Amino acid sequence: MAKFVLIGSGLAGGLLAAYLGRRGYEVDLYERRADPREGNIVGGRSINLAISTRGIHALEQLGMADEALRHAIPMRGRMIHPAGAGARTIFSPYDVDPKNCINSIGRGALNTAVIEAAQRYPNVRVYFNHKCTDVDLDSATAHLETSFVAAGSPQDESVRMADVSAANSENQIISAHGDAVIGVDGAFSAVRQSMQMQISGFEYDESYLAHGYKELTIPPAPDGSWRMEKNALHIWPRKSFMMIALPNPDSSFTCTLFWEFEGQRSFATTKTDDDVRGFFEEEFPDAVPLMPTLLDDFKNNPTGSLVTIRCAPWFYRDKVCLVGDAAHAVVPFYGQGMNAAFEDCFVLDECLKEFPDNRERAFAEYFSRRKINADALADLAIGNFIEMRDKTASKTFRAKKKLDHLLEAALPGIYLPLYTMVTFTRIPYAQAARRAKRQDRMLYVTMIAAGIIIVSLLVHLIAR
Ligand SMILES: Cc1cc2nc3c(=O)[nH]c(=O)nc-3n(C[C@H](O)[C@H](O)[C@H](O)COP(=O)(O)OP(=O)(O)OC[C@H]3O[C@@H](n4cnc5c(N)ncnc54)[C@H](O)[C@@H]3O)c2cc1C
Repeated sequence: MAKFVLIGSGLAGGLLAAYLGRRGYEVDLYERRADPREGNIVGGRSINLAISTRGIHALEQLGMADEALRHAIPMRGRMIHPAGAGARTIFSPYDVDPKNCINSIGRGALNTAVIEAAQRYPNVRVYFNHKCTDVDLDSATAHLETSFVAAGSPQDESVRMADVSAANSENQIISAHGDAVIGVDGAFSAVRQSMQMQISGFEYDESYLAHGYKELTIPPAPDGSWRMEKNALHIWPRKSFMMIALPNPDSSFTCTLFWEFEGQRSFATTKTDDDVRGFFEEEFPDAVPLMPTLLDDFKNNPTGSLVTIRCAPWFYRDKVCLVGDAAHAVVPFYGQGMNAAFEDCFVLDECLKEFPDNRERAFAEYFSRRKINADALADLAIGNFIEMRDKTASKTFRAKKKLDHLLEAALPGIYLPLYTMVTFTRIPYAQAARRAKRQDRMLYVTMIAAGIIIVSLLVHLIAR
């Protein structure tokens, strides 16, 4: 059976290793960080995330959805916190069917679940503290730096088992050779960088938002309960920026402030305790009393950047392939980055099943099925930032959502709101985006026609 070298045991890496392990492939999975089960927090990314139909479907194929979702918290809709002291919150359900909800899940717990699912297969081996520096595409060989390896630690075993080809110093360089290398190493992928350098004509585009993000905390109430409605995704839309909060199983909320890096009022200009307090009291007055660690969180937590990455092709012959953020990082506003990465794993597995004796064909097929959809998702995610931070506060937006739900109920299977298609179905993203545009056009034409008919009737009545 062929051997795959996987780089990155994040969310998609762990899941893909489990898929490949199930199919009987030999899998060596290398991760630059320490084992998340040893308390290594997955830094630089959100603490919790929303998993929905696509992600859950990918977990179900391995029979691990129930286990992974055991501690997830269903969020049935958006809880809007309008601007202004004393403004009342407004709940807007995600879907006409109350069973359709998104689920807040801890990144660390999910990461551990997928790694453990992979390790159930004896043909999957996982090596932590191995950082890929580059990949030789033609020979499908990854070069990795192994640091932090203390004598007698479990890591010794992994180094011994790997193909150690260099110096016996503390920072060893090893070579991991397989029939194919898969880059599941996230937005700043070393595997993709090697493709950029070694494939002539490799297309690459990265674009950063002017906004960054910072995570803050709403701890549990003294009696251990949630301080806000638990089954909702909370949004404080403030036109050019916003804060959101997702519930955690320990009764806390993780808030994320999405705000401009630069500008008159921005991360750059908000430095002192008074600046931070003043900004939050003005913009999020209902949240401030719930955030006792606000100043420390703001000072100590990093400010992350938000990038969209598009590249092509995602594979090199039958030797190298990219999956998840390594192939298509998107901004987080549709809550779909990880869901899409999980869907990649499912599709790649299907392609390998369809073309078991032609890996290049399987990679090519995977790329052609996924690329168009990843591009569509990238656009949808940016569009949803504007919707969340600006439009969710408006009455027109909420009226449109209600109309969407009315039409969905009245025309089952015919009319599906875009959010529903993206979040609660597995309709390919590009198809969902096209269908939503068509539906919107039909809706506007119908509304204009109805308006004309009503006005003509009124004119007719008045004239009689
Ligand atoms: C603020 C924020 C909120 C988000 N919220 C959501 C959400 O609600 N729902 C959703 O679906 N998505 C969300 N996402 C997107 C989601 O986090 C990503 O799409 C998802 O993590 C992609 O998984 P991945 O495995 O491809 O990459 P990653 O999770 O980034 O994993 C990559 C792994 O590779 C390892 N690695 C990197 N470089 C190397 C190297 N050189 N050698 C070895 N290992 C390496 C890393 O340590 C990491 O473990 C959010 C993202 C952000 C930033």
